[in-house]
Amino acid sequence: MRSKIVAGNWKMNKNMEETEALLAEVSAKLPDTTAKVMVAPTFVNLASAVNQLEDSTIEVIAQNMHFAESGAYTGEISADMLLNIGINTVILGHSERRAYFGETDEILEKKVKAALAKNMKVMFCFGEELADRKSDNHFKVVESQLKNALFGLDASAWSSIILAYEPVWAIGTGETASPEQAQEMHAFVRKTIAAAFDQNIADNVSILYGGSVKPSNAEEIFSKPDVDGGLIGGAALVADDFIAIVKAI
Ligand code: PEP
Repeated sequence: MRSKIVAGNWKMNKNMEETEALLAEVSAKLPDTTAKVMVAPTFVNLASAVNQLEDSTIEVIAQNMHFAESGAYTGEISADMLLNIGINTVILGHSERRAYFGETDEILEKKVKAALAKNMKVMFCFGEELADRKSDNHFKVVESQLKNALFGLDASAWSSIILAYEPVWAIGTGETASPEQAQEMHAFVRKTIAAAFDQNIADNVSILYGGSVKPSNAEEIFSKPDVDGGLIGGAALVADDFIAIVKAI
């Protein structure tokens, strides 16, 4: 059975004190849930977040990592550095990394392989831009993002992959994919994985939706059969909103 997951991507927000305060509020208000709850603060606050949440079921995850083991990559963070502070899951392929930091499918494939080689879990983000959807190319674009970065993996790697469908036009824009659009794409992704690997892998991979999820729309989006939770940006920065979204699952 695949897991239900709600993950908060804090992006480049919250200083150390603010991180501590938000984590304290979220963990104090966390409802009893079988869903996995994850938060991704900035790199500089990861170690303290892990310590703060030592006794919590909330998992602290990273927003990015480099593919190299170590070396002359100024400003970068390796898998080993994350593991060393207790981080076992990393978000890769976020559309902001692709758009602002030139991360291509080729780079992402290397990052995914590097994380998996260290037994980390990967939350892999993908999604089409508005022009792709307008020109009816959204399925093709998503298929090629998945194929280029993930379809060279061994079948056994899939137990360490979480997918997050994030249509670029819905991220931080207030515009959300309709629950039907999300379901349609998630079902397509599952079918594509079944064809490339097998049905069992497709049935067991969690596929999250991301893009302006908020308390008012979370329940309807999460009610769709192929939507296994959400990757939450803006709404994850407000404890009551994030908690309401966790409750919606
Ligand atoms: C995101 O950045 O992953 C995201 C989904 O952002 P938002 O919820 O703000 O659209």
